[in-house]
Amino acid sequence: MLGHKKSVSAKDHGAVKGEPILTLSDVCRSFEGRDVIKKINLTIKRGEFFTLVGPSGSGKTTILKMLAGMDSPSSGDIVYDNQSISSIPPKARPTCMVFQFLALFPHMTVGQNIEFPLKIKGVPAEERYDRACQLMSMVQLPEDYYAKNVMKCSGGERQRVAIARAFAYDPQILLFDEPLSAIDAKLRKTLQKELKALHEKSGKTFIYITHSLEEAMFMSDRVGVLNHGVLEQVGTPNEIYAHPNSRFTASFIGDTNIFPVRVRPEGGWESSELPLSVVLKVKQLDRNIEGYIIVRPERLRFLTDGALADNAIPAKIVAIYSLGSSLQYELIAGKKELSLQLSSAHAPDYKVGDAVTVGWDADDAIFVLN
Ligand code: ADP
Ligand code: MG
Repeated sequence: MLGHKKSVSAKDHGAVKGEPILTLSDVCRSFEGRDVIKKINLTIKRGEFFTLVGPSGSGKTTILKMLAGMDSPSSGDIVYDNQSISSIPPKARPTCMVFQFLALFPHMTVGQNIEFPLKIKGVPAEERYDRACQLMSMVQLPEDYYAKNVMKCSGGERQRVAIARAFAYDPQILLFDEPLSAIDAKLRKTLQKELKALHEKSGKTFIYITHSLEEAMFMSDRVGVLNHGVLEQVGTPNEIYAHPNSRFTASFIGDTNIFPVRVRPEGGWESSELPLSVVLKVKQLDRNIEGYIIVRPERLRFLTDGALADNAIPAKIVAIYSLGSSLQYELIAGKKELSLQLSSAHAPDYKVGDAVTVGWDADDAIFVLN
């Protein structure tokens, strides 16, 4: 372990994008005997946009605070560039945090806020001004905002100021704690695109947290799904979407159809919630195997004019919602509610109350054990 006062040097020279930059080994954190973070093992790669996603209270901020040095693991270790940083204070760390609730100095101008880290370092005024202007341009703030009081800026503008100030510290790793959660939907989308572009332009490592899997998938190279302090799955957005490893991850994305299934004594699969012998592309290795199948709403389809599918069930339309470019149908099959989504351009002429047949092919179902 390193001494408290020793700072971690930024290794810019010879740094290779994609190599491990930060590793969490068996990181645990408990508060008053309650385990909040449970044995997290994770390696972040240099230059990647990594997002931790999970519901409120799942432990996202706790992990970020441990990375920033505002909190320490109860056990386990955090390693940066082969050096343990678990006991190094925030200022000496290669990280900088952009908070959920912006911690800007309200009595200062935009320029003074951005320059603050440079002033502390003793950078001369002229150089500070030039750097602040560069950073303002990077986050798309007009130059005349330099002298504007930060409290006179809109929410989106203040968010840009906070990001510019974080960059002024020139950290190796930027940590973002739900920076867009208080911003309205349309502006949020714009800022998501800007952050992604900023990530690409700067080449820095971004560790971002959000409770929105949609936001995580939109921006990130890789996503980690956190559930009650357990890292359930880590993967690219596509891997998480196409191959969720649990019902939790699958249903975190939004409406999805989940059925319990088990191997029948005579072979094949059955579900207590489906009036059919389920056709699945999973080997029946174990006679007692039980699990769940997940069928995404856009994989479920109407079987009209004698169309066939590996799995077909009668259902009734309960509601139809327009999502703009697509339509979402809520159906009931026996006691089971189903969700089916299709492009508005291919919408059949169905209305609420119609009896229909819906189905999916074996390839369309994802099998998970828990
Ligand atoms: P998230 O950011 O995912 O919403 P947090 O990391 O803030 O979740 O919190 C995870 C859990 O840890 C919550 O149940 C919270 O109450 C608890 N927690 C966080 N910080 C403390 C603390 N300093 N003392 C006691 N409990 C805490
Ligand atoms: Mg939080």
